[in-house]
Amino acid sequence: IEETGRFRNKYRIRIYGDKSIEPIKTFNMMFNQWKFRPAVQRNFKSIGFRHPTPIQMQAIPITMASRDLVACAPTGSGKTVAFLLPILQALDRPSKIGFRAVVVTPTRELGRQIFGMLEKLVAGTKLRVCFLAKLGGSVLGNANNRKKYDILVTTPLRLVHEIQHENIDLSTVQHLILDEADQLLELGFLEQMDTIIAACTHQHIRKSLFSATISSNVEELATSIMRDPIRVVVGIKNS
Ligand code: ADP
Ligand code: MG
Repeated sequence: IEETGRFRNKYRIRIYGDKSIEPIKTFNMMFNQWKFRPAVQRNFKSIGFRHPTPIQMQAIPITMASRDLVACAPTGSGKTVAFLLPILQALDRPSKIGFRAVVVTPTRELGRQIFGMLEKLVAGTKLRVCFLAKLGGSVLGNANNRKKYDILVTTPLRLVHEIQHENIDLSTVQHLILDEADQLLELGFLEQMDTIIAACTHQHIRKSLFSATISSNVEELATSIMRDPIRVVVGIKNS
């Protein structure tokens, strides 16, 4: 325990809540501990990241333990991989039941970056991924086609549009990631968040909030939608 404390101090990782989940020290440790699928290991290795960033060290094992998470780390600290890798491992094989993981991010541009990384990571896994951003952009197709997808990356406006037109069913979603949660909760987006969260009715859904800053809005949302979340802060905690 003391050694873990020292390790966290070294990387300026702070935890609020359950501190029992050990950080990963290397990506190989992560691959071995959870027996990541060879295709995902291969894809990830070809991207060439050598060492996990501090937020990756602690957010990944917490998510692998199926815990709700509030993660705060500066822009550019590798939050995308921190939420994508555990989703890929948790989903394992494709299933034709519909979306099992959804990543909501405030802008189309951020969505495109996340989707780009996701496409690299799923190559050869047969998992199906979908990017829906601007209204009138790419479409989901008919009900049968929609069920083929496993993972969705989207913006709040577009997702709410699809929910309201009954084009999308989020009752199968087991992993909900809200990226840049602070921005998602800014004026105007609040109502959309309610709609999205209400549509995610799966009994065992796991939720994560990622943000560069954690405002009182984010804390409030975490308290209202999460089950005993663990908070991880790297760098300075804003309020
Ligand atoms: P954030 O979402 O925290 O702003 P990103 O996930 O966009 O950060 O990552 C920022 C940059 O760092 C990206 O170019 C990404 O590819 C790169 N990156 C992510 N993880 C690592 C890592 N472990 N080692 C080196 N570079 C990384
Ligand atoms: Mg990001």
